[in-house]
Amino acid sequence: MESAGAGETVGLMCPGCGGVEVRTVEEARQRKGARRHGLYDRLDPGPDKTGDGCMHFAEGMLLTALGIGLVYMGVDQHKPLYSLGGAALALVCFFGTFMVVRSDRREKDAAEAGYPRAERLWQPAHYCYGCTSVFCPGGTPWRGVLTPEQFKKLVWTEAGYADQLLAGDKAKDAQIPADVLPE
Ligand SMILES: [Zn+2]
Repeated sequence: MESAGAGETVGLMCPGCGGVEVRTVEEARQRKGARRHGLYDRLDPGPDKTGDGCMHFAEGMLLTALGIGLVYMGVDQHKPLYSLGGAALALVCFFGTFMVVRSDRREKDAAEAGYPRAERLWQPAHYCYGCTSVFCPGGTPWRGVLTPEQFKKLVWTEAGYADQLLAGDKAKDAQIPADVLPE
């Protein structure tokens, strides 16, 4: 019974290449060189939604105010086209803002609701520097050796917010092997 060191990265071996330079994904994201290899983003457990809604709201209201300003300018200078355009701008921005803020809210709710599910798959995962892949010691809670992109797709999909993967993120198009998750 060699239980000493269980749960630590010491003594762990990568099932993909047999390499021993492995770290938890959490550590791999913070370590030196993580930025160079993009590991911070590639091993990201979920979308960062802090403050989004407020900023969109402020921007939308600023544009709305601009439209209202045009209305007044048009009235003042007897230019009805300005007033008309300004009113249209204000209306579109006003209602557009509410739609954007509502969708921000929905995405944020999804992110918060899914995070515990993401955490369950993400926390035990380890990153191997030898073959730049991700695995779970002992094959739980998921099996196999994945690329960071497949891993991120797996975590985000199971958490229910894979639709929030940004365009250009390679994880968006990653294919998850069928037998990764147990029944
Ligand atoms: Zn490896």
